[in-house]
Amino acid sequence: PLPPVRGDIELKQVKFEYEPGRLALKGIDMSVKAGQSIALVGHTGSGKSTIINLLCRFYDITSGTITIDGHDIRDVSIPSLRSQVGIVLQDTFIFSGTIRDNIRFGRLDATDEEIEFAAKAVRAHDFIVNLPQGYDTEVQERGNVLSMGQRQLISFARALLADPRVLILDEATASIDTETELKIQEALKTLLAGRTSFIIAHRLSTIRSADNIVVLDHGNIMEQGNHEEL
Ligand code: ATP
Ligand code: MG
Repeated sequence: PLPPVRGDIELKQVKFEYEPGRLALKGIDMSVKAGQSIALVGHTGSGKSTIINLLCRFYDITSGTITIDGHDIRDVSIPSLRSQVGIVLQDTFIFSGTIRDNIRFGRLDATDEEIEFAAKAVRAHDFIVNLPQGYDTEVQERGNVLSMGQRQLISFARALLADPRVLILDEATASIDTETELKIQEALKTLLAGRTSFIIAHRLSTIRSADNIVVLDHGNIMEQGNHEEL
């Protein structure tokens, strides 16, 4: 198992092919210090999701290494890796059940107080208590009790409760109203504070606040630096 990490991540000459002979990543070098945030940007097909897939070990790299606090991620068990590397996907996963169950997912031992604390921290509490049954309101996987923005806030509360050292986030592109947008920005700040994060960023505000921005192009890093440098 992976011992508790601080969250230093290093990719060295990472190459990956989904199909033999077609490199989706052509030798990526990237390092992130514990607590820092990195925004991955680039055109469609440039390799953003592939990097995320490798970090979570949905696939194993073809060559090169990925280390977390110096441990090669291939040498640790997948459950122990995923308990410290959390992921929030773009197509927010809401399942049929109560709001409470949806937030608790992944932390079944969480108390009601912990659930509310997480929801308050990401500014989801107010809309939840205004639902007919509050935290006990039943939602459906594809139902429309929740707006897109609300679904995102639920997924943030879930991630905050799980409290991983490293957080991977595929930022949603869905258009949401300005008020919710601001809430999400605030919530994101709270969620990312003190964690190492990899964000496939679509919002300019997210890109601006990243410690490092990596621009990918056809499986290579085209340039990197912070917002002022680029
Ligand atoms: P987008 O902005 O569209 O999400 P992306 O930057 O996330 O793009 P990737 O999904 O990482 O891009 O894709 C990188 C390359 O790998 C592309 O050439 C893509 O066609 C290929 N690819 C991605 N997923 C698979 C897969 N499951 N099987 C085969 N090839 C894939
Ligand atoms: Mg993608």
